[in-house]
Amino acid sequence: MKVLIADDDQISRMITKAAVEQAGHECLVAVDGDEAWDLFQVHQPGAVVTDLMMPGMNGLDLCRAIRAAEDDSYTYLILVTSHGSRNDVLAGMEAGADDYVTKPLDPFNLRIRLLAAQRITSLHADLARYRSALAEQARRDPLTKLHNRLKLTEDLGALQSFNDPNPDDYCLAMVDVDNFKSYNDLYGHQAGDSALAAIASTLAAEVRDTDGVYRFGGEEFLLVLRGQSVEGAGAVMERVRSAVHGLQIEHSGDPDGVLTISAGLAAYNHAHRAGTEQLLKEADQALYMAKATGRNRVSVSTGGAHRPQ
Ligand code: GH3
Ligand code: MG
Ligand code: MG
Repeated sequence: MKVLIADDDQISRMITKAAVEQAGHECLVAVDGDEAWDLFQVHQPGAVVTDLMMPGMNGLDLCRAIRAAEDDSYTYLILVTSHGSRNDVLAGMEAGADDYVTKPLDPFNLRIRLLAAQRITSLHADLARYRSALAEQARRDPLTKLHNRLKLTEDLGALQSFNDPNPDDYCLAMVDVDNFKSYNDLYGHQAGDSALAAIASTLAAEVRDTDGVYRFGGEEFLLVLRGQSVEGAGAVMERVRSAVHGLQIEHSGDPDGVLTISAGLAAYNHAHRAGTEQLLKEADQALYMAKATGRNRVSVSTGGAHRPQ
């Protein structure tokens, strides 16, 4: 574990450093609170052993600053206080310290506290890993492995709140599998699941890494095509439509004989600064047009009026 020592007294620093190194830890040393704060931000040590009284930032300030800066990581803070100063200990613990040792420093005392520090910081690291894995899991659809509606809502919110007076153009494409109910009826729900997973992979493979592909619901997907004019996005969606057709997943209940998709496209640009809710509505209406005019096609919304391609 990386241990940062902050002490303005040279002798104390040497004694503490020797104790930390003897306990098998890597040691960083600061001659006052300000330097400790700088080193902390660069090295993110697992534990900090800090003197209380130092010029500039004192031990309490350092504890508070570290606690305020923490997000997922946890730093174990040990105060070094003068013997018998109970009020200092109390103030230190209130400022965020986890434990204290008294001067003159007993290396054994510090060593056992660093054992606890290691256990606590490793528990916190485990928790942070679980939290991030759960957060990722909550944003994925297990069948298609695509991002789900929750992640879409977050990403659309970020697109919307992006405080740029000249934001880039982007397009939303609502995609729906054609005649999918009859596919399930003819080939079974399991085959339906496999087909959805195959279509999802194709959608993801046909767009840029910076674009977003989400499972919107059942057999519906939503694509966020960034930095695209309506013409560019139209070409992308035509390629996507053709790639799904190219999978040649047999569907005897469909006029094409294979599974196909329909898509509705809505564009955000300087002439049409619609909110994401409005764009979703427009993409959905364009999708409806694609369905009504024969399926296996892409329709483009013109921000209220729709024309099939
Ligand atoms: P349209 O061309 O108008 O879109 O017709 P459709 O049959 O695709 O539309 P409809 O909304 O009537 O049917 C959608 C079907 O998608 C019904 C539902 O059972 C199926 N579906 C939705 N989610 C899943 C899924 O996760 N797995 C499977 N196998 N089927 C699903
Ligand atoms: Mg549908
Ligand atoms: Mg459908």
